[in-house]
Amino acid sequence: MTHTFLIKYAEIALKGKNRHLFEEALVQQIKYAVKKLDREYAVRRAQGRIYVDIEDDASYDDDEVIDALGHVFGIVGICPIISLEDDDFEGICRAAVEHMGAEYPDREGLTFKVNARRARKDYFKDSMEINADVGEAILNAYPELRVDVHHPDINLYIEIRETISIYSKVIPGPGGMPVGTSGKGMLLLSGGIDSPVAGYMVAKRGVKIDAVYFHAPPYTSERAKQKVVDLARIVSAYTGPIYLHVINFTDIQMYIYEKCPHDELTIIMRRYMMRIAQTIAQETGSMGLITGESIGQVASQTMQSLACTDEVCEMPVYRPLIGFDKNEIVEISQKIGTFETSILPFEDCCTIFVAKHPVTKPKLDVIIRHEHNLDEGIDALVKTALETDEVIIVK
Ligand code: ATP
Ligand code: MG
Repeated sequence: MTHTFLIKYAEIALKGKNRHLFEEALVQQIKYAVKKLDREYAVRRAQGRIYVDIEDDASYDDDEVIDALGHVFGIVGICPIISLEDDDFEGICRAAVEHMGAEYPDREGLTFKVNARRARKDYFKDSMEINADVGEAILNAYPELRVDVHHPDINLYIEIRETISIYSKVIPGPGGMPVGTSGKGMLLLSGGIDSPVAGYMVAKRGVKIDAVYFHAPPYTSERAKQKVVDLARIVSAYTGPIYLHVINFTDIQMYIYEKCPHDELTIIMRRYMMRIAQTIAQETGSMGLITGESIGQVASQTMQSLACTDEVCEMPVYRPLIGFDKNEIVEISQKIGTFETSILPFEDCCTIFVAKHPVTKPKLDVIIRHEHNLDEGIDALVKTALETDEVIIVK
């Protein structure tokens, strides 16, 4: 049997040519999401609507499909529908009655309203007549139901288009814009709580995500790297495949440790992370960097520190969590499913060499002066780090 879902998306934001791009990208992302269910499927576009057909078997579960579609940005509502090819009115009434019976077994005292929409103006009944006649058929079958046109418990929708859709459940989608409609950004992805959330939030606005992780073996283990891959995989359920660049940062970190004041280590390290991320971004078509920073969270995220970090960046740095408290970030990470992985206790390359008292108000001129201590060897180390970039395609 085929189960059909009607996909609702926000149409207000769409004008002219953008609408086509938006729908095309949405269809691509929907296909990516339902392909994982390993079932026969079809995604159809018709008359400003997107329909998803899924073939079932004994193990079929609507919730699985709804979960998959719930990961697609751009979707505002997911509606399991009864889809009729035939527009014969008796058939519509019968299907509506069956739907109410099957979906609401405990219907004593419930109220409902029929909301017909006739997109095909040649249909022989107008929406008012359809509302009245289907309503009557339902009341005949289930006298225990009542009609309430103002605040019904159940809204039964009937759409008369090329095909007929009957449904009463609209499950909220994640909203946002389909990934691929807003260019590409480079996420600095660590194993922490914040950066996966930052990637999710920017992707939600339609941005395709690449990622870079700075790895410092043997100070950071293979398991710490695997944790980042796992986080990228969870985020990729929303964003589509992520090209994860793993950069070996050990020699750069050691060199900074050797040559620069230890209380400035973190800030100088972060400046090198930004420089390297930016080079990869420029080479791979990303238009901005994305980090999980939030003002004042740690010493390297004060306004002064962020100013020092920003100074090396020639492209915009997007920090979607900038005004969030930690508990608000944790809430989102729980919602999107990254939290449990983020809190696994593996080393983080930023914390290995961290000073006991890092500067909280670094002065840019001082930082730049101390960075000159690196002049002799740093370019070669950055070059090697870029040349040995390991790209993992995570999906
Ligand atoms: P997170 O939870 O994302 O690790 P954090 O609170 O630990 O954040 P920092 O360690 O100061 O914060 O890092 C700030 C941001 O810098 C991170 O959100 C991330 O975007 C980036 N970052 C930090 N370490 C790395 C790393 N090893 N590889 C890639 N990006 C990193
Ligand atoms: Mg971190």
